[in-house]
Amino acid sequence: MNIEKLTKSVRNVPDFPIPGIQFKDVTTLFKDPETLKELSDGLYEMYKDKGITKVVGIESRGFIMGPLLAERLRAGFVPIRKPGKLPAATHEESYEKEYGTDTIQIHRDALSEKDVVLLHDDLLATGGTMAAAVKLIKKFNPKKVYVNFLIELKDLKGREVFDPEVEIESIIRYDI
Ligand code: AMP
Repeated sequence: MNIEKLTKSVRNVPDFPIPGIQFKDVTTLFKDPETLKELSDGLYEMYKDKGITKVVGIESRGFIMGPLLAERLRAGFVPIRKPGKLPAATHEESYEKEYGTDTIQIHRDALSEKDVVLLHDDLLATGGTMAAAVKLIKKFNPKKVYVNFLIELKDLKGREVFDPEVEIESIIRYDI
């Protein structure tokens, strides 16, 4: 993987959605066919020998590379969604945000103890969203949980909120 090329392909949008945030826009990574292929190949190489049976993507930017990778790994794809979107019975987990709390949900029949799960989202900031997703997945007692982000904002130290047994990988890392 040409990490430098991938890093250059991410658009930084200052002050979006609110002043002070440097928003990492992944749409510029996905729109170029060769960059998309490189990302897809790179992700496949990272996880092809792990025995992944389900890729779980977090709404909504985890729904782009998540299914693509699942298909290449011959795994299934499972969505984690915001409340009220999934039609059947769900498990849910709430977590603290800067202002108030957020909740995420997954279908109760989405995973089993036999699964090796790869949780995927576009970006690791404080880690709050993914830590809640890991808790949600652990309700199913799967064999193993891997966590993947396309981008990691290292300065926010999001990695530190996870238990050491959770294997976390990111592809593009920013110091700020
Ligand atoms: P967190 O729970 O703090 O790790 O935030 C992660 C979620 O917020 C991810 O789903 C990201 O899509 C989004 N996010 C947070 N900060 C940024 C940022 N600087 N640029 C783009 N997305 C972000």
